[in-house]
Amino acid sequence: MTYQYWNEKFETMSRPELASYQLVQLKKMIGYSLRTPFYAARLKAVGISSPDDIKALSDLKRIPFTTKNDLRSGFPYGFLSINRDDVIRLHASSGTTGIPTTIYFSRDDIKNWTSFVARCIYGTGCNKTDVFQNMITYGLFTGGLGFHAGGEEVGMLVIPSGSGNTTRQFRLMQDFGTTVVHATPSFLLHVEAKMKEEGINRDSLKLKRAFAGAEPYSEDTRRRIEELLNIDVFNSYGLSEMNGPGVAFECQCKNGLHLWEDGYIAEIVNPDTLEPVPDGETGELVLTILCREATPILRYRTRDLTAFYTEPCACGRTHRRIHRITGRSDDMLIINGVNLFPSQIEEVIMAIKEVGNNYLIVVEKEGVLDRLTVKVEVRPDIFMDDSRPLNAIKEKIRKTLQASITINPRVELHESGALPVSEGKAVRVQDSRPKDV
Ligand code: AMP
Ligand code: ZN
Repeated sequence: MTYQYWNEKFETMSRPELASYQLVQLKKMIGYSLRTPFYAARLKAVGISSPDDIKALSDLKRIPFTTKNDLRSGFPYGFLSINRDDVIRLHASSGTTGIPTTIYFSRDDIKNWTSFVARCIYGTGCNKTDVFQNMITYGLFTGGLGFHAGGEEVGMLVIPSGSGNTTRQFRLMQDFGTTVVHATPSFLLHVEAKMKEEGINRDSLKLKRAFAGAEPYSEDTRRRIEELLNIDVFNSYGLSEMNGPGVAFECQCKNGLHLWEDGYIAEIVNPDTLEPVPDGETGELVLTILCREATPILRYRTRDLTAFYTEPCACGRTHRRIHRITGRSDDMLIINGVNLFPSQIEEVIMAIKEVGNNYLIVVEKEGVLDRLTVKVEVRPDIFMDDSRPLNAIKEKIRKTLQASITINPRVELHESGALPVSEGKAVRVQDSRPKDV
């Protein structure tokens, strides 16, 4: 196979050169970090008050980890390290308390991010002759604009279709000869099922490739999508705190995701001890961004579980590969690509006066998509045999939840004391989706 590189110099750089480059970039990031109140205090506490206090990459270990809660504590501008007037965009992800973590980008940051995404796309074999339909949510979520810009950078014809509405997606694919799509793996499976339902002939489409990410999926699921749609599927990993897509991506070998080490320093640690795991063992991925001046984030605990491959890749890229993500070290659920912490649900329903003491979050597969049901006990003084007020309560819970978590849940009301009470730590989540990763 011949491999194509978007930026050959950087993608195939020798490991020692890569390390020297990382050190230079890390020092820059330390310089920016020191301009934020959070890192100024954190870094000074460990004796780092200037970039020159970082002499080697191993000095990174002196810096404490950063968590999602740290980022929230600085909302809205606490992690901004450049002049507000030099920021040209923000993205955000929502979290447990409803306070989003917000990431700012300068013009150069957007350029850097775009070139990492372009590198990922080009590395799968795409080029300017491709027509790219970006079937993912646009907006604060980074997958929309991130891939959009990367696709344009490669020179592809980009169709900003957004997610949902399969009938319209098929029309666009047929009208413009789409050759590559980006979506969550569950949406790709949904698209395939709808194609059958609507009698769309696969041969009427020019589809060759898909980029699939934003949620965990197994090698079996990848193969299933590839066979059903007769395309190549490439795994795309990213998170808003680290720009979004463009952190790690599969090359044409489709055997692990190259994590771009000229943009990120990656560590894998034991989530309990926070000590590095031996090479090749599974642990929590910790990332330091090297390519963003407006919001530097050092040693971020992603909570994503993965392991490094220990052998080099046949494609010639020198950047280490990670295994597909196998789970999380916290309780975050990913429902059709949308992140959700159980505590977000608790906060909303417990503020509703008709709600009793117990609730249960049920996640299951309905066809190929995820389905969220929230089972809620009502207060003891509410009569279960009068359906009119009950329907109103149900609708109120559903609407309030949807407004807060952006997922439309099914709501079930139960009599006080009807939901199972576990001995010991309450079990609030029943996730019956197959775990085949
Ligand atoms: P967000 O910040 O909303 O983009 O969500 C980022 C999170 O989505 C990551 O921390 C992962 O938990 C998950 N995620 C993104 N891409 C993948 C992928 N390819 N495989 C598994 N999980 C993913
Ligand atoms: Zn490779």
